[in-house]
Amino acid sequence: MSLAKYANIIVDISHSQVDRPFQYRIPAHMQDMLEPGMCVQIPFGKGNTLRKGYCLELTDQAEYPEEKLKDIAAFLPEENAVENRLIRLAYWMKKQYGSTMITALKTVLPVKQKVKAAEKRELVRIAPAEQIHDALAEAIRKHQTAKERVLRELLTEELLPYELVTAKLHVASPTLKSLEKQGLIRIDTINQYRNPVKQKKEQENRNILSEEQLQIVTKLLSDFDRGVLKTYLLHGITGSGKTEVYMLAAEEMVKRGRQVIVLIPEIALTYQTVLRFYKRFGDRVSVMNSSLSAGEKYDQCERARHGEIDVIIGPRSALFTPFPSIGLIIMDEEHESSYKSENMPKYHARETAIELAKLHGASVLLGSATPSLEAYYRARQGEYELFTLNKRLTGGTLPAVYTIDLREELREGNRSVFSRKLQELVADRLQKKEQSMLFLNRRGYAGFISCRACGHVLKCPHCDVSLSEHRGGRMICHYCGYETKAVKICPECGSKYIMGFRAGTEQIEEQIKKIFPTARTLRMDADTTRTKNSYEQILTAFSNEEADILIGTQMIVKGHDFPKVTLVGILAADMSLSVSDYRASERTFDLLTQAAGRAGRGDTAGEVVIQTYQPEHYSIMHAAAQDYEGFYQEEITYRELLSYPPASHMLAVQVTARNEGRGKHLADALAEAAGKKSTEQKALYATDTEHLTDPALVIGPAAAAVSKINDIYRFVFFCKHQNGEKLIEIKDKLEEQIKQLELKDEMVQFDFDPINGF
Ligand code: ADP
Ligand code: ZN
Ligand code: ZN
Repeated sequence: MSLAKYANIIVDISHSQVDRPFQYRIPAHMQDMLEPGMCVQIPFGKGNTLRKGYCLELTDQAEYPEEKLKDIAAFLPEENAVENRLIRLAYWMKKQYGSTMITALKTVLPVKQKVKAAEKRELVRIAPAEQIHDALAEAIRKHQTAKERVLRELLTEELLPYELVTAKLHVASPTLKSLEKQGLIRIDTINQYRNPVKQKKEQENRNILSEEQLQIVTKLLSDFDRGVLKTYLLHGITGSGKTEVYMLAAEEMVKRGRQVIVLIPEIALTYQTVLRFYKRFGDRVSVMNSSLSAGEKYDQCERARHGEIDVIIGPRSALFTPFPSIGLIIMDEEHESSYKSENMPKYHARETAIELAKLHGASVLLGSATPSLEAYYRARQGEYELFTLNKRLTGGTLPAVYTIDLREELREGNRSVFSRKLQELVADRLQKKEQSMLFLNRRGYAGFISCRACGHVLKCPHCDVSLSEHRGGRMICHYCGYETKAVKICPECGSKYIMGFRAGTEQIEEQIKKIFPTARTLRMDADTTRTKNSYEQILTAFSNEEADILIGTQMIVKGHDFPKVTLVGILAADMSLSVSDYRASERTFDLLTQAAGRAGRGDTAGEVVIQTYQPEHYSIMHAAAQDYEGFYQEEITYRELLSYPPASHMLAVQVTARNEGRGKHLADALAEAAGKKSTEQKALYATDTEHLTDPALVIGPAAAAVSKINDIYRFVFFCKHQNGEKLIEIKDKLEEQIKQLELKDEMVQFDFDPINGF
């Protein structure tokens, strides 16, 4: 291959936004040295003033007439390694997942925003402990729950960041003012980020790590110190002490002068988690989450860049924190689907973390109670190192699980959504004043309205999705928001037996109230968590025992411990099995295992009721037995048989178009090009071993599972191959072709090893 002649350069990325790149000629003596991410000097504008730029990509195609291009003036020494690495990461993401370089760059680089003078407030305890105790007792007596929460923290903490208290503890400023008036606290304003950072007193009650926990940290660090950088997978049931392992590993890494990124799914980023890290790392830890404004995010990035923090906790985007020298990337709940981006580039945080770790010379620690098939498969193959923790450290034994066959219930005349066993146990908990959780597995369930006479299903006129029934006689499309009055008569056959399949969380709550009129319930689903913070408000209320029963969708199975919950009921466990997605069984197993894990976290043993129409299905049987290994064995066999990830790689190509015919036409043309490319590859790679020589399988195109959204048609085809590189080559080929087509109304997206279905 000949060396690239041109380079696309971006000028001064610290500017308000990343603009478009400019093309330059690479002088011959630089051609074998220039790489994406490198810093160069270029003549810019009319006066040809020399400016700093970053090389984004190399190419052989001149975008302008040759004579209009200028030469790169010089290399600049790598003065700004942070940007270099982030650009190289963006370049990798662009290659790996398919997108333009600018889109990839925008994903990775923080956008500069003017922020108000950084002002920080904190709560300082000024009263002695006894006085706090008294105030706490009074708050409890007066049912001042917000006040109670702050005072509880103040028992052990002398200092709390103001934002942590207001945002994560849901305490409003009048409450804090009143504590200030009582002479219990002082609210300090610090005009700048403290520097040098105040040393935090050792206030945390540290757990002494178990032998098993210590072994993991020791192995990781001794590898690291020897320059052996690996990816580790920690498979540990909930409550087995994974977080404690993360914290020690992070602490040791910080001692070595390196920074640590801790990825946590947004939904699990609760006050408890943040506070645990805060107690250990004090001001050297920071949190990144979606509720921060762009300005606040940028500010966090600046602090990271200037070495003011060592540890960042956040969802997948926290990967792009501009740390100078990352030593460890931790990824908790590694199996979570929110780690995959839904926007181009559709990157997976796990793979991106591993790539980023390579650029920094860092280690990666993945953790989960139910590892993704991907991670476990790689661990089995020796690509990752596997650690296991299989004992709960608190809360004693695993819960007892009862699987109830709903068909049997019906045969015996029970038409309620609750099995007799579940009703009996709920009644028992109400009487004992213990808490229960009812989990409605709604994944893939559309709450559809159908005619019992002819089977007609009511669909949204703009989307290929069934409408759902809502209160007040409305029907709503959850994809586009289309809303209409519920029909009383079937538009197809005129029958009046047209009705919704009643099993939403609202209905469950209504039914519970009918059977147990005095039960206090809380409901958590997409409707009740629409506003900012409502998710945590509901969790906090439940944890303060303001309700006996929490009813919710998959949201309730994540997040934190409720020690008083001794019963978990899983209604219609197999709902998520009917989704047309090769990951349906894995999702079902994860959800059930996690839901079951919510029972009995305190001193009392828990019980779990799994209601299902398919008690014999392997994902339900293994979840009931809490047997990950057993599930994995059956599932991986199925994936191997059908060449699904992780046994094989898969590239989904999605075409969307306003005009159905043109969309179909484009999808056909691209699928054909993909097929051609893979045949060429076969010839090219003829020396490869085994079946790696086979051409990639091209499946489709076909209409996507949801074939229309908002009047836009969707088509999809899939390419499968064991060797991911071949799929990337196919993607490159298609990108080239798409560029030449200059599409206006159609759009093409790539999804590598898709996990969210089509
Ligand atoms: P996981 O992250 O796997 O759910 P955690 O690290 O949160 O587990 O630990 C679960 C509980 O056990 C926590 O309350 C934690 O404080 C406690 N714990 C963890 N490690 C130890 C230990 N070595 N000794 C005593 N308690 C521990
Ligand atoms: Zn009908
Ligand atoms: Zn719609």
